Amino acid sequence: MSIRATHVLDEQLSIITGLPFEYKLPLTMTTKRLYYTDAYTTGFDATLLEVTEHEGRPALLLDQSYFYPTSGGQANDLGTINGWPVIDVVAGENGQVYHILAALPGADLGAIPGPVHGEIDWSRRYDHMQQHAGQHLLSQLFYRHFGMETLSVHFGESESTLDLDAAAVTPAELAQAEAVANELVYAALPITAYFVTDDELARVPLRRPPKVSGEIRIVEIQGYDYSACGGTHVHNTAEIGPIKLLRQERRRGQTRITFLCGKRALADYLRKHDLLTQAAALYSTDVAQVPELLARAQEQVKTLQHQVDELMTQLLSYEAEEVAEAAIPVGSRQVVVQHWEDRPVEVLKTMAHLFQERPNTIALLATTAGGKATAIFARSADVDDHMGNLLRDALKAFGGGGGGRPEFAQGGGVALEQMPALLEYALKRLELFWK
Ligand SMILES: [Zn+2]
Repeated sequence: MSIRATHVLDEQLSIITGLPFEYKLPLTMTTKRLYYTDAYTTGFDATLLEVTEHEGRPALLLDQSYFYPTSGGQANDLGTINGWPVIDVVAGENGQVYHILAALPGADLGAIPGPVHGEIDWSRRYDHMQQHAGQHLLSQLFYRHFGMETLSVHFGESESTLDLDAAAVTPAELAQAEAVANELVYAALPITAYFVTDDELARVPLRRPPKVSGEIRIVEIQGYDYSACGGTHVHNTAEIGPIKLLRQERRRGQTRITFLCGKRALADYLRKHDLLTQAAALYSTDVAQVPELLARAQEQVKTLQHQVDELMTQLLSYEAEEVAEAAIPVGSRQVVVQHWEDRPVEVLKTMAHLFQERPNTIALLATTAGGKATAIFARSADVDDHMGNLLRDALKAFGGGGGGRPEFAQGGGVALEQMPALLEYALKRLELFWK
């Protein structure tokens, strides 16, 4: 599952519709969102207020929670409440946080209201924190260095993307962006989140100031980036690294940058190192030599294939010579009739072309290799019999189909055991015609 959303769109939607805006502190918050001020706590106690349903799924409402509900492009947390698996977390319209369970706990529920204990799946949460903080850093970086605004963001299960308002990003710009991003990682800039009032907001240099009133949550990369955001973030930029920009794609006048942050980037490095090491071992060489060796191997395969083709044609021409000695004279023609049980159709074609080069020759060839019957009829240019018509007649007589040009025809679809009779039939037709 992946979530597509953008801060920009959320922002605009809330301005247009007047619906609750997630970066604005809801006034009627029924679940206190503890992750707003602390993204690192994973175990917590709370009071279960209600057992309810959300869109047909059992859900728990607590007085407070560290569980992050899917919003602002960031995916929900997973974890447990009293050991019951939380399979989804959804934000309600009035500030509630629905903790969706796979099934109702039944008699284990205990008293309501009553105490419960929540545990967050930390590796998933921390991964989201690294990708999300990395996105803020990259969006600001592309804006500062190249004047490119981030139009939308997508945090995927394995990769994340930024859509920039740029028709193209050059490879040099991409390399520069990656270098600067990792310098910002080494700078270990503190990342903080805080709420500001309307008056204070005017002094915050947001890339895109929201036009809503009330308290707004700001996520600040110290002195570098200020974003209106409800997400969970790491403590400083050092925790985002490494940052890897994987690729860029042009999309309808925009450029999509695919990136990995933190442990994802590290895992990607380890995997690629492993793959490259395996490839190098195959060639008993250093990893640096792999591209050159692969290119050379490709060339060698091409050359060898060419030689194999030439040798095969030569070999078949000797065989064609032998087969032609047993040709049956029909009028002024020499008719070669041959049925193989193991020859690929491609070899049959080559043989047919070899017979076409002989004078006054008709070749009636068949193969039943691989349990499939194929017949090829061909003739030399100095013969005027129509091979397409002859083959069509013969196949029709045995329940198959096919045909072709006057000098070359191919078809099949008959039972394997019928093939000798089919060739005999075609030969008889020629003999009758030339009697
Ligand atoms: Zn954000």
